[in-house]
Amino acid sequence: MSQNNFRMYMNGKWVEGRGNRRTLIDPSTGSALAEVAEASSEQVHEAVLAAKIAFETTEWPVNAKLRVALLYKLADLLEASAEEFAQVESRNTGKPIRESRLDIMDSVTCIRYYANLVESRDVWQKEMEDGTTSRIHEEPIGVCALIVPWNFPLLLGIWKLAPALAAGNTIVFKPSEITPLSFIKLAALIEEAGMPDGVFNLVLGDGAAVGQPLVSHESVNKVSFTGGAETGRRIYQECAKTLKRVSLELGGKSPLIIFEDADVEIAVDWALFGAFFNQGQVCVASSRILVHNELEQEFLKRLSDRLAHIRIGKPLEEATEMGPVISLDHLKKIEQYIQLGISEGATLFTGGTRIQGEDGYYITPAVFTDVNQEMRIVQEEIFGPVITVQSFHDEEEAIALANGTKYGLAAGILSQDIERANRVANRVQAGTIWINGYHTPHVETAWGGFKQSGIGRELGPYGLAAFTEPKHINMNSQLQKVGWYSAT
Ligand code: NAD
Repeated sequence: MSQNNFRMYMNGKWVEGRGNRRTLIDPSTGSALAEVAEASSEQVHEAVLAAKIAFETTEWPVNAKLRVALLYKLADLLEASAEEFAQVESRNTGKPIRESRLDIMDSVTCIRYYANLVESRDVWQKEMEDGTTSRIHEEPIGVCALIVPWNFPLLLGIWKLAPALAAGNTIVFKPSEITPLSFIKLAALIEEAGMPDGVFNLVLGDGAAVGQPLVSHESVNKVSFTGGAETGRRIYQECAKTLKRVSLELGGKSPLIIFEDADVEIAVDWALFGAFFNQGQVCVASSRILVHNELEQEFLKRLSDRLAHIRIGKPLEEATEMGPVISLDHLKKIEQYIQLGISEGATLFTGGTRIQGEDGYYITPAVFTDVNQEMRIVQEEIFGPVITVQSFHDEEEAIALANGTKYGLAAGILSQDIERANRVANRVQAGTIWINGYHTPHVETAWGGFKQSGIGRELGPYGLAAFTEPKHINMNSQLQKVGWYSAT
């Protein structure tokens, strides 16, 4: 790794943080991984100022060709070093290497998608009934603060960065304080791709010391945030003070509905994938399994057989199917939820124990049965490998259970009856619904939440719209009198 690795990138230069120092921990061993110097609040201000000056004085906001060429170059550079990035991501987060590889390739695809979208976009224009012509320019918003969590550090960052840059904005980017390594590495590629100074700025640090001064800065025009619902609410209030544009991608408690005509083996396969990918630390994780009562016993039996064979191991080993959770604090939070479920009267059907002899933050996947809709383990996001299984008798009950939380991020429906699956999909309140599938985000589509899962959408044209101000220009080609008032 180069000497730039653990520094910040601001105004085209690598700088040493003058704020807190933090030791990053390898979640698979519990030992130190790296030392990072974080930003002071003064440095946050300097980063915002650099982004503001770049927006006002460089050709970046008005030269789409320059932006498109740079994004294509960045995608090529990332693709060429994909394996290095995957290894860094797995070391920092603990996710199995095969999952990190997917994240990096999805990031490359996303950057190319937005380069192509801007390259092929025409200005909307129309002759109006009154003889004038209207056109709509999609202009960049200005300085955008992009803030992301630790579960998909590179990919979730790219979902914001690629459209924000493609649209012509300038950026101050803040990764999670515990997983900054892949974005520090990305900043080196952004520099190599030839980014004008000040267009992309990377600040490191936590929410209180760095996130808060960033979102409250008067020169930030837009905040795009992914993270927990509580933090999202706080950021929304802060942004209201200066009417900043805001996008919020928050938590979820997503159901997977399994109808009686589904093959049990296939249903278990999707349930495992939906619930335990990235150790269940996924905003859309299918943490609530809703299974038709005729299938419930067979489903549970097959589920516990399969869980016993999941290969839990070191993130960089090829055979590993599940790694550790992100931190000791998070492991303890997951364990507290498991105790809560037991004290609420649910049955811990299997799992939920630490792995003996391991210093890393490993826990076996936990399944709760005998749960009811009011329990906190059904209502609250645990964000770890813990699921609840509830049964239903008919379609109406399945829909009511699916919609019965404050969240509305995603849902899955497994059934051979496609007509029924579509009917149910139309009534489930969620931003993404997979029928006979789960998890795949398609870059051309949309990603985000109904209800308290967020505000706005990422990906597809929606992701670009989130970083633009539409400007309507109406033109009369000749200067004529309006003739509204009587002549004198
Ligand atoms: P978090 O809210 O604690 O932190 C997210 C980011 O916000 C971090 O970078 C953090 O430093 C920063 N932050 C914290 N307080 C801040 C403040 N006051 N001002 C500005 N920034 C602040 O979330 P987390 O624990 O890192 O991530 C887990 C959460 O993220 C889960 O709730 C999960 O559902 C959600 N998530 C949502 C999506 C989605 O697409 N909807 C995707 C992934 C994760």
